[in-house]
Amino acid sequence: MQTYSTMCSFPRCKRKTFVAGYCYVCQSKYCKQHRLPEKHNCSGLNQYKEQLRSHHQATLKDHQCINSKIDDFYSQ
Ligand SMILES: [Zn+2]
Ligand SMILES: [Zn+2]
Repeated sequence: MQTYSTMCSFPRCKRKTFVAGYCYVCQSKYCKQHRLPEKHNCSGLNQYKEQLRSHHQATLKDHQCINSKIDDFYSQ
């Protein structure tokens, strides 16, 4: 089993507390409060959105339902 730091990666947080999980964009560990990309000014967020957008356009004709998912993401 891997050694596991419980420190949040947010610069001004550094709280040694329960880490809620990894950011799905930059894969860094964050506490519950900072886990969302918007909460820690995630460096990869814009790129991630671009990837979503191009993926969305590439699959638009096959997956109409992805529209609502992307809208949810942008409104977070
Ligand atoms: Zn934190
Ligand atoms: Zn991030």
